[in-house]
Amino acid sequence: MKILVINCGSSSLKYQLFDMTDESVLAKGLVERIGIEGSVLTHQPGDKAKVKITGAVDNHSTAIKMVVEALTHPEYGVIKSMQEIAAVGHRVVHGAEKFADSVRITPAVMQALEECAEMAPLHNPPNILGINACAQLMPGIAQVGVFDTAFHQTMPPKAYIYGLPYEVYEKYGIRRYGFHGTSHRFVSQRVAEVLGKDIKDLKIITCHLGNGSSIAAIDGGKCVDTSMGFTPLEGLVMGTRSGDLDPAILPYLMKKAGMSADEIDNYINKKSGVLGISGVSSDFRDIETAAQEGNERAQLALDIFSYKVLKDIGAYAAAMNGVDVIVFTAGLGENSKEMRAMICKNLSYLGAVLDAERNNVRGQVREISTEASTVKLFVIPTNEELVIARDTKEICDQGGCRI
Ligand code: ADP
Repeated sequence: MKILVINCGSSSLKYQLFDMTDESVLAKGLVERIGIEGSVLTHQPGDKAKVKITGAVDNHSTAIKMVVEALTHPEYGVIKSMQEIAAVGHRVVHGAEKFADSVRITPAVMQALEECAEMAPLHNPPNILGINACAQLMPGIAQVGVFDTAFHQTMPPKAYIYGLPYEVYEKYGIRRYGFHGTSHRFVSQRVAEVLGKDIKDLKIITCHLGNGSSIAAIDGGKCVDTSMGFTPLEGLVMGTRSGDLDPAILPYLMKKAGMSADEIDNYINKKSGVLGISGVSSDFRDIETAAQEGNERAQLALDIFSYKVLKDIGAYAAAMNGVDVIVFTAGLGENSKEMRAMICKNLSYLGAVLDAERNNVRGQVREISTEASTVKLFVIPTNEELVIARDTKEICDQGGCRI
């Protein structure tokens, strides 16, 4: 069974075509600069060389058309026709309380997605465009939605209700939802597999550290708390996002600096985080380099980032009354031994001790704690696309993809 996975952003579209008989990737690629001059599709068929295809890509529908052409191209395509594909799995950022599991897209689901879009104005509208474009261009092929928020739907109310009048939850759905759920789910299940343990017997803290970063507390395989909230802005300091703030800062800045609500929104989402603190970059590689060269604000950004991760690990160990495994994943978590070392420096009180030699690893499954460490530390590369493909396959296997 072949499954196409689509991840639509506002100006980009990533795709991977899986052969689910062995979960191999037949082709993958990226369309960049959708709706902007200089659009380009980079298509990688299997192990073969990448192909770059340029041309005007005005909207997501054109982008999907290009992807279909690339996948079925006589020279660099990997399938003869789209009829070989059983279903398309879409990453959808916000499923609110409507979706605790992946779902086959129907008109009723589309209606619910439109309703969720108000809460994720940056993320859900491009996801919806991608689904609509695929439905039009691939009639007869089922579309499945896999939600970033779904895994966190098991959080108890004490973890997701804000200290605001309860009516804002009832009236507007203002509560903590959490994001990166597909990644937290994947790495927690993977680490249990690697340890040869039933996930039901484990207390796991997963640290997804990338441009966007979040932490989750997973007790017995179920998420009980996570650091992102109503939007992906809450929690850790991120590449360009502020993370947690005293909310009173916002009206203060609006009055003091004369900023509008939209300007503030842009400021805390795009200009803050380690970019805003360091003044160097939102990319941790640049910040680490600058810090090594003696840039004090770059060092401060790294200190603030790692300190907040450390504090949240402590909070989640408390929430679960202990922790068995701490997992690092995503761009920074998988690749930066320096950042992992900074975070793990103060974890010995929990019984978690990093092994410097084992920690010298990038993007591979590896235990990085010492033999004596009572809490296991792990690097587990995430694979959100594979989760989307697996969920889509499962829905097809249950007969849910028949049109
Ligand atoms: P997202 O999917 O949220 O855009 P990623 O998970 O791809 O982000 O992570 C991107 C981040 O990971 C960037 O800030 C990048 O600098 C960081 N990163 C990737 N490789 C390394 C590395 N070797 N050392 C330090 N940081 C790295």
